[in-house]
Amino acid sequence: MIQPRADVALMDGYHSPQVDVAVRLNANEAPVPPPAGFADAVRDRVAAVDWNRYPDRGARRLRERLAEHHGVDPASVFAANGSNEVLQTLCLAYGGAGRTVAVFEPTYALHSHIARLTGTEVAVGERREDFTIDLDEVRRVLAESSPSITFLCSPNNPTGTIDPPEVLAAVLRDAPGLLVVDEAYGQFAPRSAVADVAPGVPLVVVRTFSKTWSMAAARLGYCVAPPEIVAALEKVVLPYHLDAVKQAAGEVALDFEDDMRARVAALVEERGRLVAALADVAVDVFPSGANFVLFRPREHDGPAVWQGLLDRSVLVRDCTSWPRLEGCLRVTIGTPTEDDAFLAALKEVLA
Ligand code: PMP
Repeated sequence: MIQPRADVALMDGYHSPQVDVAVRLNANEAPVPPPAGFADAVRDRVAAVDWNRYPDRGARRLRERLAEHHGVDPASVFAANGSNEVLQTLCLAYGGAGRTVAVFEPTYALHSHIARLTGTEVAVGERREDFTIDLDEVRRVLAESSPSITFLCSPNNPTGTIDPPEVLAAVLRDAPGLLVVDEAYGQFAPRSAVADVAPGVPLVVVRTFSKTWSMAAARLGYCVAPPEIVAALEKVVLPYHLDAVKQAAGEVALDFEDDMRARVAALVEERGRLVAALADVAVDVFPSGANFVLFRPREHDGPAVWQGLLDRSVLVRDCTSWPRLEGCLRVTIGTPTEDDAFLAALKEVLA
């Protein structure tokens, strides 16, 4: 039988186990659904869908609402099936054979994975020991590889590190191609790079409904970028890629912005409680500006701790095989009850 493309045959797929557990803290999802009013409003909108017709190809109303939300022009907004599809569309339009993207590890694994899938070379730089961005290292990688896309992620998955505005500005100044800032966890940071998006500036800010909007099931993400970049992405994406239900769900969600902000505030408070509690057990905790925390058991093997937690029906993310994250696990902030169950299980495993 015909084999897949040679580079694809060598690739590892995406590995994040979906197993039935009591406490699921592995995928940085919101621990609670959107408010009841959201589900009711979506139901009304679904009842009005013209099922025999293709959806609005330009997702005009959704883009208008997102543009209003960010104070930008609708021509500066591109929406897709999760921010992963936004990233893929960026790589299809600006990457490809003969081109390179730059990433700084440890960071979100899909940036390099999607780049490779689209036939793009990946130049890998390193974050500092404390996971902050080292501008000398950035300049070295940019000079060596002249990437058409430089990816940053702030707050960074899986470390939780926030890149300060002056670092983003310096990378934007030096990057020879696009700077793509992945703000999947952007609502947890004090400032968004969306404020820096402007005509003629090669900056793209990627966001998602999967985390703070409590809508991982909907698969909706978007980016804010100069109109000429949005126009390029529209050329590349499949026609009618954004279904009518998803478009409606996104529009409805934006009516519940206050609820979203309240969830973010509650998660930040709960993160403080969890981090404080982790200080009492034998793990090193990395400072986080997102809805998850990276930690490393001091005296125990990371995979064994992961398994021990799973045996107690608590699922966290095993990062132990990721670049520079030997022994590390990542836990998503859950409800106080879920986090207590995690802490109790962790204490047992480490005892
Ligand atoms: N970017 C980052 C940094 C993420 O952590 C994730 C989800 N794990 C995504 C993008 C993709 O999110 P989605 O496709 O659900 O929007």
